[in-house]
Amino acid sequence: MAYDDTNIFAGILRGEIPAVRVYEDDRTLAMLDIMPQSVGHTLVLPKSAAENIFDIDPDSAASVIRTTRLVACAIRSAFQPEGMLLQQFNGAVAGQTVFHFHMHIVPRYENQPLRGHSHNAVDSELLEQHAEKIRSALTLIPDSS
Ligand code: AMP
Repeated sequence: MAYDDTNIFAGILRGEIPAVRVYEDDRTLAMLDIMPQSVGHTLVLPKSAAENIFDIDPDSAASVIRTTRLVACAIRSAFQPEGMLLQQFNGAVAGQTVFHFHMHIVPRYENQPLRGHSHNAVDSELLEQHAEKIRSALTLIPDSS
């Protein structure tokens, strides 16, 4: 199926829809998930038009992984989770709800079950506080310039 640029992440990338951005470079954007499954849940998107793992170009895929590693390091430093889950869905049957490729970075905390996927939006002020912690941790991670 052809990429549909009416999806919400395409709107965010065009600057038409607000997002809580934590990192951006030429090829990728990292932003907080507005319905986080845990504190610090972040999404990494390629700026190129791609729906899933099957149509993303290899360079964009590599850039997403590079940004994912960088932001995961910052999240670990900011929130000290005991673990970190990376997740990426392809197709509605696999759980994909937004049809622009994205990687989930989901911090895991000891004895804290994950909240539901795409449930319970969090207050935007609280999200902004979390984003600020990640942005500040990013300044201390090598290769974040
Ligand atoms: P999925 O396509 O299943 O990987 O899920 C899409 C993810 O995007 C879900 O975790 C949603 O909570 C999240 N989400 C939906 N709309 C927004 C938005 N405007 N800003 C940030 N995250 C969003």
